[in-house]
Amino acid sequence: MSPADSNARPLRILVCIKQVPKAQELQVDPVTQTLKRVGVPSEINPPDANALEIALTLKDRHAAEVVVLSMGPTSFDESLERAVAMGADRAVLLTDRILGGSDTVPTAYALSETIQKIGGYDLILTGEETTDASTGHVGPGIAGHLDLPQITYVSEVRIVDGTVRARRTAEDGTEWWQTAMPSLCTVNFGCNKPRSPTLTGKIRVKRGGVIAHWSCADVGIDPKKVGLLNSPTIVAKVDTIRLPPRAGHIFSGEPKETVRALLEALIRDRVIAP
Ligand SMILES: Cc1cc2nc3c(=O)[nH]c(=O)nc-3n(C[C@H](O)[C@H](O)[C@H](O)COP(=O)(O)OP(=O)(O)OC[C@H]3O[C@@H](n4cnc5c(N)ncnc54)[C@H](O)[C@@H]3O)c2cc1C
Repeated sequence: MSPADSNARPLRILVCIKQVPKAQELQVDPVTQTLKRVGVPSEINPPDANALEIALTLKDRHAAEVVVLSMGPTSFDESLERAVAMGADRAVLLTDRILGGSDTVPTAYALSETIQKIGGYDLILTGEETTDASTGHVGPGIAGHLDLPQITYVSEVRIVDGTVRARRTAEDGTEWWQTAMPSLCTVNFGCNKPRSPTLTGKIRVKRGGVIAHWSCADVGIDPKKVGLLNSPTIVAKVDTIRLPPRAGHIFSGEPKETVRALLEALIRDRVIAP
């Protein structure tokens, strides 16, 4: 069946989610210069949770099937289980030691191969970027591999007459774009409030069988195209920036005088021009 042929089956929406260390807990190992991931509380990458919320809203409106997909170690099950408890129908984790150290090039390749194995998709949603590496490459990379139209930085998605219409954030406002399906959208951080897991969803997770673990061999991924050795990017150095303490100057008094004093201080500190 062609992916666009959605008449014979429910609409299928795939959401790519990555598990990341909680933003407040981001720490760099001073010796290895890599992110500390072990023993650090994790969460669904926040823009991916926004993407999932869009998918679940479309599921409510169109009785769509929502499948969440991730690539990473089995500890990522925690986030996939949360996504199912929030309302996703099922999850797929691509997990294999040979994927370790993959940069965005193998990641986009491996995820797109996995998406093809899932098949029958109408819409793919990813976050705009992650909070732990923030390249923003992976969504457009998947669209490139699958030769799909894409709309980036969206905050709202509608499905109308078999097409995708999405509100896209531009520098000076918003634009509405429309594409045929299947297509891919990357979703803006903070564009909605992701729902909480429900009791029914948690019971589904508890019963098991909602997450499929696939290896590279299961998907047919070429081992010569993934992993550290097949990743063109080298992260040479990571610096932790220590922000100076804020002065915490509070201006008080009559509003007119207070604003004048604030403006003078901003000009004096060269934050704004006179
Ligand atoms: C400090 C640091 C710096 C890095 N710098 C680079 C760099 O400059 N270039 C580079 O190629 N790699 C870099 N990496 C590696 C990068 O984290 C991984 O390659 C990762 O696979 C994807 O990159 P990203 O997190 O930037 O994803 P992004 O492209 O920012 O992610 C966009 C969206 O793609 C989806 N997505 C991303 N990864 C996954 C996944 N594993 N499973 C499911 N969905 C996913 C999510 O929906 C996500 O919101 C860096 C890693 C670290 C820790």
